[in-house]
Amino acid sequence: MSRIAYVDGQYVPHGEASVHIEDRGYQFADGVYEVVAVCAGRRVDDERHFARLERSLGELEIPMPMSRRALAVVMDEVLRRNRVQDGIIYLQITRGQAPRDHAWSDSSNPVMTITARRQSPPDDALARRGVQVITLPDQRWKRNDIKAVSLLANIMGKSRARAAGAYEAWLIDDNDLVTEGTSTTAWIVSDGGNMVTRPLDEAILGGVTRAALIDIARQAGKIVEERAFSRAEAMAAREAFLTSTTAYVLAITSIDGNEIGDGRPGPVTEDLLERYRRHVSGNTF
Ligand code: PLP
Repeated sequence: MSRIAYVDGQYVPHGEASVHIEDRGYQFADGVYEVVAVCAGRRVDDERHFARLERSLGELEIPMPMSRRALAVVMDEVLRRNRVQDGIIYLQITRGQAPRDHAWSDSSNPVMTITARRQSPPDDALARRGVQVITLPDQRWKRNDIKAVSLLANIMGKSRARAAGAYEAWLIDDNDLVTEGTSTTAWIVSDGGNMVTRPLDEAILGGVTRAALIDIARQAGKIVEERAFSRAEAMAAREAFLTSTTAYVLAITSIDGNEIGDGRPGPVTEDLLERYRRHVSGNTF
């Protein structure tokens, strides 16, 4: 079966899907994106993804190309045409095509592309083993709350992590505080057993998984501290984990080669993963 992509109003074979070379997304990374998980044919946390998309677009003064309801119809059609029941949807909106000029003069014709692909939920063996992370200086710009397609520092960090045999790089700001991973939210478990993650500010992306997990945890009576934590605090933490749309909740067993806890996924992380899995499969919390 051939894959189908949505490109600016048309459903086209994936291999032929293209935008113009003067699209500002191509020339300036002038655009935003979303990645939405699909479980049993259902888009997970779609309202949160729509809200973040609208916010990112608003910050860049790019109009939403269509209503949420119309967009949901197009996304479902892409899923249907690609026969995706479990997988991910990738959606990108750029400011569109214009003669090259740094300043934008017209944002009225944004270009939207959507693809979908089958993907299994995160590997259980990996969840049981946990992953390693390294730390790197956060070299990104100062508006990481916008889910922009300009990801050079993120891709460099992730590639350095892979080359070091790690799953992710945690990015460290000028005050030695952890901001987030290159494509994931960073968490630790404090001595008292509380979950700790950086508060929402312009230094991090407001993760949809982060928001869902905070709700899930608080409903289960757990305490979530939204505060910054340092690299040193992370190193000494009882547990550490990361979250994202595609990774769910993944235990971290070492940071820069330093073992976290006893070097195995801890009970808080395992419990949260279980609860998050139930949330993804549609059974509330
Ligand atoms: N932080 C960054 C920099 C990301 O790129 C992502 C996901 O792409 C996340 C955090 C996690 O966000 P979400 O839970 O919405 O997937």
